[in-house]
Order: sequence, then structure tokens, then C-alpha cells
Amino acid sequence: MNATFLARGLGLGALLLQSLAASSGWAATEQAVGSYAAGRLVNADRLPESGTGFVKLFVPRDRGWLTRELSDVVQGVASRLHQRFPEGERLQLGDSSGREGGPISGHASHQNGLDIDIAFLRANHTEQDPQLTTGFQEVFVRNGTLSRNFDLRRNWFLVRAFYATGRINRMFVDPAIKRAFCRAAGSSPDAWTTEVLRRLRPLAEHDDHVHVRLLCPEASPRCVPQEAPEPGSGCDAVSLRRSG
Ligand SMILES: [Zn+2]
Repeated sequence: MNATFLARGLGLGALLLQSLAASSGWAATEQAVGSYAAGRLVNADRLPESGTGFVKLFVPRDRGWLTRELSDVVQGVASRLHQRFPEGERLQLGDSSGREGGPISGHASHQNGLDIDIAFLRANHTEQDPQLTTGFQEVFVRNGTLSRNFDLRRNWFLVRAFYATGRINRMFVDPAIKRAFCRAAGSSPDAWTTEVLRRLRPLAEHDDHVHVRLLCPEASPRCVPQEAPEPGSGCDAVSLRRSG
């Protein structure tokens, strides 16, 4: 799939070209080492506490360290979201990694600066206190059903915007949320949308946030890649049963 096709899919040409142009700058510095669940982070970047369209949560626990590439992707998507939905709340960013990567409590992965958790967008546009360290404050799935406050339109835009950067390995969401996105895509999604759905992996305990995982950056030769999800949307009942 080429860049033009990707960009056309969501009208995100500017964002995509920006991230491709920036890629030459990443070549100099290795950051992600090892795998997502057994890795570390060197020469780490750190997310600002806030910026256009985003705010960092859990500030006191200092887990906003990450690769330059993930920082650029998140900030680019936040800015695009703000442009498209200026009335909405900001993107609320949870943990990425510790300063030197490696294991952090509450997460199996998040070890090499390529994973970040982001609160789902809310119909009522509320934001939680960024100083709280007790986790995301709103769960959107009860007994397999989405709550009304889950803003399907903006969350669907969000995951498509992430995919459009061309840098996404996969995104974890609760199975009920994957089903909702499958419905939003309609019964015969186009090829581009199918690729978005393919990256959305159903996983328990992702009912309050989406976990976004980037591909290994070119500048990090010791980064251990994870295979792409199996082809297809994964919208059939069988593949919703388990994750990968
Ligand atoms: Zn996570």
C-alpha cells in the first residue's frame, strides 16, 4: 500500500507527509531496544504535559518517556483531532514508558518507548485531573455493552487517524469496542478501512483506553518487531473471542 493511497483514505495527507518528512531526522538516534514486552529505551524523548489537543495524565508517576517517533505520531494525531473536533476534550495520554524503558507496574509491555495508553473520547467531553495517578477514571463497557458516553464518531476518527500515519503495528481495544468499530465500518468495508480494523485487536481490560503500538522505527536496528495481525478485518465472531 503506498503513501498516496493511505493519505487519500482519510484526507490526512498533511499529517502523513509530515511524519514521512520527519523520518529522516530519526535516522541519527537509536531509541527502542528489544521487544515491546522485554525491551528498553535509550536516548528517550519525553511528552510535554500538554500541547495542541492533548494532555498528559498521571503526571506524578513520570511515565511519559518514549521514542521521538511515537511522540510525533501522538502529537500529530492530537492536533488533527483538535482541528476536526475543536469543541471536544483533549486527547488524554496515559503511560508510555519509564525513562530507560523496561518493566513498569501494571503493564506487560510498554518497555521500549513504542506503546502508549490513551483514554477513549467522551460524549460529554470531560477530562480527568492530570495529577491523579489512580488510572483512567471512566470505563465504557458494562456487561459487554458500550456506555452512552463512548463517543463512537470521534473514537473511530481517532483510530483511523493513527492508522493513517503508516506507523501503527496494532491497537488494543475491548472486544465490545472492536464490535462497535466493525459496525461503524459497515458490512463491506473498503480495503483501507479493513486494514484499520485489522490493527484493532480485541483485548480484555481495554474498556477505558486504547493501547497504541508503533512499528519498530528504522533508526532503532535492535528493536524486535512483532508480526502484523493476521489479514482481514477480524470482525467475525471467532476472532473477536481471543486477541493477539
Ligand atoms: Zn497499554
